[in-house]
Amino acid sequence: MIQHHPDMSTLISYAAGALSSNFTQLVKCHVENCSDCQAKIQEGEQLGGQLLNMHPSSSEATQTSSFDDFWKTNINERVFSEANIVAPTSYEDMIESLKDGQKWKSLVPGIGQIKLMDGAQGTLRLFKIAPGMAIPLHTHNGNEMTLILKGSYSDELGRFKAGDVADVDDDTDHQPIADTGEHCICLIATEAPLKFKGLLPRLMQPFIGL
Ligand SMILES: [Zn+2]
Repeated sequence: MIQHHPDMSTLISYAAGALSSNFTQLVKCHVENCSDCQAKIQEGEQLGGQLLNMHPSSSEATQTSSFDDFWKTNINERVFSEANIVAPTSYEDMIESLKDGQKWKSLVPGIGQIKLMDGAQGTLRLFKIAPGMAIPLHTHNGNEMTLILKGSYSDELGRFKAGDVADVDDDTDHQPIADTGEHCICLIATEAPLKFKGLLPRLMQPFIGL
């Protein structure tokens, strides 16, 4: 049962095609498996339609039609057809398809990563955290979104299990700890390099490439 979801503002941005590609990939993985978020996006779509119908005026006619096109292209065709055509995948399948033959690279003992995207907009990475291991305490220069694919972790924000999304901004300090007997595998999209607290993590940062 999924308990943590992307913020509504994140879902709206996703539906409007306004998220950068690394965040889009992560949100898509969650939404395909989350009927709550699919419903929220659909409600947003209906609300958008109602708002358009509330103020019909000749001067806005051209604007409305271009917005209508935008909405149709971005929400109905791009998001929904994509999300609905793809049959629900298991998270195991998703991890394999994301890995695409790549091997886990050890950052520090107990934490492995696979970099899927790395560009000016940020990164998209798979993380594998051994039971009991923690990602060092950090804050962010920008947004960070985590989708749990396997296992679970706990941090200051709660407990996150497969399917849950942690959608955090630069006000959040957190230290996720894998909290069961199995590895926690998650997909993490970041906007900018993380800022670690404490001397050791800061010294390690250039080496582990976070
Ligand atoms: Zn959701």
